Amino acid sequence: MITPAQTLTLLASIIFVAAAATLVWMALALVARIAPRASLAMAGANAAAAGSLTLHVLRGVLPDTLTYWPGDVLAITSFALLGAAVPGITTRALNWKPGAVVVAATALLLLALPYEGDLRWQARIVNGAGAALTLAAGIIAWRNLARSAGGRRTPAPLALPLFLIAALMAARGLETFVNPGRTPDLRVPSEFNIAFLWTALVLALLQNATLAFLVLMRLITRIERLLERDPLTDTLNRRAFDQALERAHAWLARGRGYALVMIDMDRFKQLNDALGHAAGDAALRLMVKELQPCVREVDRFGRLGGEEFCVLLPDTDIAGAALVAERMRWLVNTAPLRWLEQDWPLSASFGIAEAERGDASGSAVLARADAALYRAKGQGRNVVQA
Ligand code: GH3
Ligand code: MG
Ligand code: MG
Repeated sequence: MITPAQTLTLLASIIFVAAAATLVWMALALVARIAPRASLAMAGANAAAAGSLTLHVLRGVLPDTLTYWPGDVLAITSFALLGAAVPGITTRALNWKPGAVVVAATALLLLALPYEGDLRWQARIVNGAGAALTLAAGIIAWRNLARSAGGRRTPAPLALPLFLIAALMAARGLETFVNPGRTPDLRVPSEFNIAFLWTALVLALLQNATLAFLVLMRLITRIERLLERDPLTDTLNRRAFDQALERAHAWLARGRGYALVMIDMDRFKQLNDALGHAAGDAALRLMVKELQPCVREVDRFGRLGGEEFCVLLPDTDIAGAALVAERMRWLVNTAPLRWLEQDWPLSASFGIAEAERGDASGSAVLARADAALYRAKGQGRNVVQA
């Protein structure tokens, strides 16, 4: 025997979860400033859900004009905000416009419908819009997650709760066709309502938890990036490059070789002395930008210190490295630094080395590339040496 107390208890639980989640997301957005826009959208989605359900419970208690239409509009607003927040976590940009259009359109449509009788059409519109918004957000979030390259991969199934919410809303909308006589009031103690409210409670928890997890992953990825990058040129710092080198060296025993291209800018001190440190920094950034087209996705580009860089080329032999280095040399040499309306010619010297079975570690290969670079400097600079 299902009693009204059961549906009311479940409704109160969902309202409580949504209200608590609102506070947590507000704290994340405003105090911790983690993913602030998406977190604010999540706070809004939870607040709108809590508000909508509270108005639903208060139907008949407060005046109808305060509970019915505003409650339905708040429900759609909640789905729209959720639909903006989840993809917003994966892309950083919050695309709220399509959701706003849906909210405005459905709000006007509901305004035109009389809130009389069994409210079947209102239920179809609210749940249909909710299902459409969450389904669209699920598809976008899934694609973004599957695509997110570089760094840590976040699994696409993290978008799954959105599809479940879409299915739940669709089921609620379809129920008005299956049982046309039944009122879509959530407080009515029916089996469908109990199943619906339990599922909604679980999904509310699941959705908030997965999104919090995505925010955490984003934070970790950002910190990892800060830890392994050189702030001036955004290439790998010495520590991260050394780690990459030792990983590549471990693969050598399993038959996968690699080569190193060591790069040192020519007469950099002169440039610094003549144009100033800021120009030196600009030259470093310019050189890195010029070299980027030669660096594949699998290659590792690191700054070893000062104006010395190294590129690790997996599955590459000395001949391949020579081709890459020669192209790099040409690129640097043909891109002068423009500073205070003047062109300052740049060039760099290159030392290349291929990993060999006898090499005890990556630093042995690095030392050979360094020795080659030293010879390149001795040959008058702006050359490649093996
Ligand atoms: P060579 O052709 O023999 O390589 O001459 P060089 O002047 O480039 O060589 P050296 O290694 O003696 O000079 C490197 C200079 O780079 C010394 C230092 O002042 C400068 N330097 C190191 N790090 C930075 C940096 O982050 N920014 C700038 N602007 N200069 C740097
Ligand atoms: Mg130099
Ligand atoms: Mg140097």
